[in-house]
Amino acid sequence: RAVLLDGRAVAATLREETAAAVAALRARGREAPALATILVGEDPASHVYVAAKHRACEAVGIRSLDHRLPGDVEGERLAELIGSLNADDAVSGILLQLPLPSQLEASEFIDLIDVGKDVDGLTTANAGQLWRQRDGLRPCTPAGIIELLDRCGVPIAGRHAVVVGRSDLVGRPLAGLLLRRDATVTICHRHTADLPAVCRGADILVAACGIPRLIGVEHVRPGAVVVDVGITRTDDGLVGDVDFDAVATVAAAITPVPGGVGPMTIALLLANTVAALPSTTDKDR
Ligand code: NAD
Repeated sequence: RAVLLDGRAVAATLREETAAAVAALRARGREAPALATILVGEDPASHVYVAAKHRACEAVGIRSLDHRLPGDVEGERLAELIGSLNADDAVSGILLQLPLPSQLEASEFIDLIDVGKDVDGLTTANAGQLWRQRDGLRPCTPAGIIELLDRCGVPIAGRHAVVVGRSDLVGRPLAGLLLRRDATVTICHRHTADLPAVCRGADILVAACGIPRLIGVEHVRPGAVVVDVGITRTDDGLVGDVDFDAVATVAAAITPVPGGVGPMTIALLLANTVAALPSTTDKDR
């Protein structure tokens, strides 16, 4: 039976490291980093996510600044808020909680965020840095998956990684990160012909399509490492994109849902917020 890739435990270690980094900054007389979140409208799930992010920040000593706008807000007002947070030296990271209400085009507003404060790594500029092999802030979920694989001792270089899903949030940037780590990468999506056959070629199979239990034993080569990004709320609770019970009998290792990729995503948001700080040397110069 597959070994469990315990995202909850690995994320806890990473959060401790971030807390230590924040404490070290404070000990050198620097201000604590601050994450500004922007929540537009009343989407209940978004409220839950933002509250969880604030709690996670506080637990590691990152200050959180809570900005809320009504669901019928004009784009201009949102743009002004982002501009003022970009200009505020006390703000190290800016997170625009998605989805936005339908009258607002998310990518337009994401791209207003200063690249250096883009702790979600979703601006076009940061996405470009990834594909041009330059340093930059990386999207939290894909970066969290790489961190989880690394810390669980799963080798990436030279392995065949198959990513199911090509969103700007998960699939695409994850493919870019895996490629930078010298994996051979295949990206699948809703038009992929014979998904099971393509997936069976994977040493590392990542499911990020948002379709509950789409990935079954017929998609998994015995001995593969399986990462389940999917989260769908159902009457039975949170369900992943992988049929966990079946796949766990053939995979070498697998992430649970919940307790796999989810906690890593939040841990990387905290790490990115600290990484977004101008370096001490810059500040001290
Ligand atoms: P999305 O809807 O933007 O993208 C889904 C992708 O899956 C698309 O590229 C689509 O082409 C592909 N797809 C759809 N049906 C398919 C099929 N039958 N076969 C192959 N590919 C198919 O979703 P997203 O934002 O990338 O999120 C994916 C899932 O991951 C969702 O369940 C989401 O809730 C979850 N998620 C989890 C975390 C986390 O922290 N654990 C973070 C982000 C997203």
